[in-house]
Amino acid sequence: MSVLRLAVQKKGRLCEASLDLIKACGIDFNARAQQLTAPAYNFPLEFFFLRDDDIPGYVHDGVADIGIVGRNEVEEKGYPLRIVENLGFAPCRLSIAVPATFDYRGLKDLEGKTIATSYPRILKDYLEEHAVEADIHEISGSVEIAPAIGLTDAICDLVSSGSTLLHNNLKEVETILHSTALLTAGENLTEEKHAILDKLLVRIRAVQRAKKHKYILLNAPDSKLADIVRILPGMKSPTIMPLAEKGWSSLHSVVHEDDFWNIVEQLDQLGAQGILVTPIEKIMY
Ligand code: ATP
Ligand code: MG
Repeated sequence: MSVLRLAVQKKGRLCEASLDLIKACGIDFNARAQQLTAPAYNFPLEFFFLRDDDIPGYVHDGVADIGIVGRNEVEEKGYPLRIVENLGFAPCRLSIAVPATFDYRGLKDLEGKTIATSYPRILKDYLEEHAVEADIHEISGSVEIAPAIGLTDAICDLVSSGSTLLHNNLKEVETILHSTALLTAGENLTEEKHAILDKLLVRIRAVQRAKKHKYILLNAPDSKLADIVRILPGMKSPTIMPLAEKGWSSLHSVVHEDDFWNIVEQLDQLGAQGILVTPIEKIMY
């Protein structure tokens, strides 16, 4: 029987969230520190633990069937991979930064300058697209110290909070790419592996949807029910059940995290009481 081989980062920013996602899909495994592979016990899946930079190549070559890796690595490596799902975690951006003292007005100010980066391919395409000629200096780590030690005039690196740039007296001046973790697949999966991937995707999507929603329960006076139903979406519409106390009902609903605080404020204004909010484990179809 076929087993789907999933490449995940061995150690680093993507590792924990990748494994947590698979666990939340009800898939059990034992990832020991020194092991490079691990089988899942209750799903036809095998983990390969790799450096994140290597994941696009392994998926492309078919050594692994699918992989979880940042968009930044997918774009930099440039292989024609299928992006199966945007997993949304590990958000960051690839940006150009210059010393805080650099009087930067626009991309043209980088003409003839040197830029240190671990993403030469993405940077080269970006500079070409904007008709700027600069010298790309490829380094694999500690890119942010390059200007301070006199190696380059600027850098192009991943940023999330921006605190590393600040610590190194750099300012972010251009954003080239927004990245999050992606589930990628090779283009030549067998039919059997496709079927396993489809099953995995049903689970991943159920977990992803659940993360974005909250389950709300509340009590409301019957006189306000119509107003409350108008603001509560629910899966179809909210569930309403009469309470033992006359004139009151209990409502249950599912609310998207983006609307959540807004809705709770309105509920409060409409006289709702005992508002309970609970996380949802999975939302199936
Ligand atoms: P590896 O040893 O696997 O090559 P790494 O040092 O290249 O590890 P990490 O620092 O663990 O990689 O980052 C992995 C991924 O996390 C990045 O490729 C990117 O997609 C994402 N990421 C999110 N925020 C940041 C950030 N502030 N800096 C770097 N990467 C980030
Ligand atoms: Mg890496």
